[in-house]
Amino acid sequence: MSRVLSADWVLPVEGPPIEGGAVAIQDGRIAAVGRASDLGSGTHYPDAVIVPGFVNAHTHLEYAVYGGFGDGLADFADWITLHIQRKGRIGWEQYVDVARLGAAQCLQSGVTTVGDCSYSGATAVACADLGLRAVVYLEVFGADPAPALEHFAETREHVDSFFSDRVRPGISPHAPYSVSLDLYRACAELGLPTATHISESPAEISYLVNGEGPWGAYTDLLVPHPGTTGTRLLAGHDLLGPDVIAAHCVMVEDDEIELLAATGTGVAHCPRSNAALGCGVAPLAELRAAGVKIGIGTDSPASAPSFDFFEELRSVILSARARARRPSVLSAAAALELGTLGGARALGLDTEVGALSEGRRADLAVISLAGSSYVPVEDPAAAVVFGGSPGCVVATYVDGELRYEKGGTDWHELTAAAHSARRAMLAVPPAARPVAAPRA
Ligand SMILES: [Zn+2]
Repeated sequence: MSRVLSADWVLPVEGPPIEGGAVAIQDGRIAAVGRASDLGSGTHYPDAVIVPGFVNAHTHLEYAVYGGFGDGLADFADWITLHIQRKGRIGWEQYVDVARLGAAQCLQSGVTTVGDCSYSGATAVACADLGLRAVVYLEVFGADPAPALEHFAETREHVDSFFSDRVRPGISPHAPYSVSLDLYRACAELGLPTATHISESPAEISYLVNGEGPWGAYTDLLVPHPGTTGTRLLAGHDLLGPDVIAAHCVMVEDDEIELLAATGTGVAHCPRSNAALGCGVAPLAELRAAGVKIGIGTDSPASAPSFDFFEELRSVILSARARARRPSVLSAAAALELGTLGGARALGLDTEVGALSEGRRADLAVISLAGSSYVPVEDPAAAVVFGGSPGCVVATYVDGELRYEKGGTDWHELTAAAHSARRAMLAVPPAARPVAAPRA
């Protein structure tokens, strides 16, 4: 089956913007990208821009309703205790309900691919249900490889029927302060795509290097501090590489940036999460200059406020410009590239997605600029990045299939189910009336 979508602008990302552009789709792939005058108008979206679907390189969809949990708590012990208490109040079905809401919010924000770290595996179910492309990195923790890999095998088995070409399995040894070197090695031996968290906070660095700080009390018995940073430790044991994506990388020195670049390791840059948790601002300009493969991640509402990818793109630009004290350090077009093709590269999916070109998967978002202060359009990338929001997303396609349509996809039941899980976690009585009443 073939069809054509057209709009005022098409931003292929790999190649210059096309005014009056169109994308031809056949069997879930892009058959051609060009002018509507050549390809036909097909389904025409007025006042809109067609972009490659955003690639959200680091998420935890199963934390979609954790907004505000522990916000501002300085003491890590209090923060983690609160999260453990609340998580314990819900079960598997509710994990899936929450992850479904996370997947829906991503599609609503123009995201077509996520790199998701999931402890329960609920993300695989949610992404399969909603048609969101994903690498689901099943999380493992601890010092002893045997029980951790047993947990991994059980979780993978539990959700195995939800994996496909679109929703692929991976593994996530959580972080160098919560996972031993032995467990990292055992994970690497599985040969799966891998995600981890590196150099996120000052507390992490001080624990790993000196055994000091708030992490010490929680991890000392579990995972001994190695006397060096996560990047140096993993690189020194051949545990970084093109199949690995590292979230955060806020506190990295020049030699660590070189190690990330030389090993071809992907980095998921999450500026809102890093700012909200008081971790700092990652050296994005330095990472880019070194040639590190960088994508953008929203992380989850457990730290950043939302899966709103437009807010994340703006934060990428604002934090990079503030850090460098130079507005030319990152353009809107460069941020858009990081949020699409950059993320696809970091996840190892760039031959399939990340740009609009013949042969790639037809993953794309249609963004309306109607009412934006960026019209009439001077720079379409700036209009999307600075002027866009989930409310501007008209349609999101994955594999050429419409997975979200403004006004046509409501997700009332799904939202109500996720809210009910949040109420259970907050341990408050149900609201007197439905939170998401169906529209008349
Ligand atoms: Zn994370």
